[in-house]
Amino acid sequence: MTAQPDFGFAFDNSYARDLEGFYVDWQGEAAPSPEVICLNLALAEELGLDGAALTGDEGAQILCGAVAPTGAHPLAMAYAGHQFGGFSPQLGDGRALLLGEVIDTQGRRRDIHLKGSGRTPFSRGGDGKAVLGPVLREYLMGEAMYALGIPTTRALAATATGQSVMRDGGPQPGAVLARVADSHLRVGSFQFFAARGEVARTRQLLDYSIARHDPELAGRPDAALQFLRIVIKRQAGLVARWMGVGFIHGVMNTDNTSISGETIDYGPCAFMDQYDPATVFSSIDRQGRYAYGNQPAIARWNLARLAETLLPFLSEDEEEAIRLATAEIDGFVAEYDSAWLAVMRAKLGLMVAQEGDAELAAAFLTAMEGQGADFTNSFRALSDVLRGNDRALADQFTDPQVALDWQDRWLARLGSGPEDTGRVAALDAANPIYIPRNHLVEAALQAAAKGDMQPFETLHSVLAAPFTARAGLVEYAQPAPDSFGSYRTFCGT
Ligand code: AMP
Ligand code: MG
Repeated sequence: MTAQPDFGFAFDNSYARDLEGFYVDWQGEAAPSPEVICLNLALAEELGLDGAALTGDEGAQILCGAVAPTGAHPLAMAYAGHQFGGFSPQLGDGRALLLGEVIDTQGRRRDIHLKGSGRTPFSRGGDGKAVLGPVLREYLMGEAMYALGIPTTRALAATATGQSVMRDGGPQPGAVLARVADSHLRVGSFQFFAARGEVARTRQLLDYSIARHDPELAGRPDAALQFLRIVIKRQAGLVARWMGVGFIHGVMNTDNTSISGETIDYGPCAFMDQYDPATVFSSIDRQGRYAYGNQPAIARWNLARLAETLLPFLSEDEEEAIRLATAEIDGFVAEYDSAWLAVMRAKLGLMVAQEGDAELAAAFLTAMEGQGADFTNSFRALSDVLRGNDRALADQFTDPQVALDWQDRWLARLGSGPEDTGRVAALDAANPIYIPRNHLVEAALQAAAKGDMQPFETLHSVLAAPFTARAGLVEYAQPAPDSFGSYRTFCGT
């Protein structure tokens, strides 16, 4: 037996150390013949890991969860959550493991988490597995979001286990995603003990979260209130950014709502092509609860669930605690509106704020609706209009006059002045040309299922620089052809 190579993991497992009782020590299942399908070398480097070693046999054993590297403390995290509005007191990592936390080369604490590593005490009826398609989907979507500048978990590796996993459509190749986050603390983590009336436990988690994410609040008498306010601000900013790129998460359950304000748990998420606020892709979201246009309201609802868990720490007087929490939750709307307006100002090239900007942005969306206008390409067309192509936006609309009327209003608002300098470049830097188009994602995953990783790798590299137009990539900037039909996504469980 040779010694385990040093992969470079600088583990420091604060969750395991400080939160006993919030997890179960656990080990991933053995995999017949694990093989690393893709590894994020740049991220590995950032984490101080030896990427080349990780792609080898022993690396694959680690990345599928079968072998714990030196210093790791693999565990399944406990959490609860509201799923589609209904409360489950015990969810937890049913098919995932927190391998541990590493301190990266920038000194930043990062969770390394494996999804698909086998059954745990939280698996309920599930098999604890993940399959290749959804694992690669999460890899691609997460990295696309990162390149778009949106807070997100990162994909470190996708590893095929060599095992066949039964799913509705028949046997599928098993796989494990290794992902990295600032933390995997969720609203549902707070709900776990709060729902059991365990106030001291909930306080322990609050103190841990503050020490980890918002250490400047530690020791303040109003730390719980300030923490709630900061989490609200992070979530408002996150959802505003989703809205700015047409991203629909698809399962905004409280267990998928992170305290750190990162996008987590990519399941049935997708980007919309034609603008329609009612857009839903997930096959299980039959009521449209998590439709594009509902996302801000749902985020607020999820944060209200967090606020409920914090009531005992807001005031000793229950009525006062409720009053304080309600005021914070009501404050979400202003936080969100201001984050959304900042996103929209950038997307419209409104570099100096003016009264009426929110109305102008809202009018653009209203104009797009029912016009078959592609959300991404309509925004991207704005810089082309300024370059002199008057019809760039109008060409996106069924009725060009609707676009031209709004465009006149926009051009009048721009006027001319010192803010003109750099506006075209600023618009291109705010409005992506390449997003993960549903038909391209599906084509890449279908090829991967047949063993051809080329389309996936090409798409991945296109999406790594989403704001920079490149020659030869016209098809990557197009919405799905009509023949693609209406798109349905699945959780991949
Ligand atoms: P998700 O919809 O992926 O956020 O998962 C919701 C809950 O279901 C979490 O507690 C997961 O750990 C659990 N879960 C999802 N898929 C599986 C599976 N195949 N086996 C066991 N648990 C699962
Ligand atoms: Mg989840």
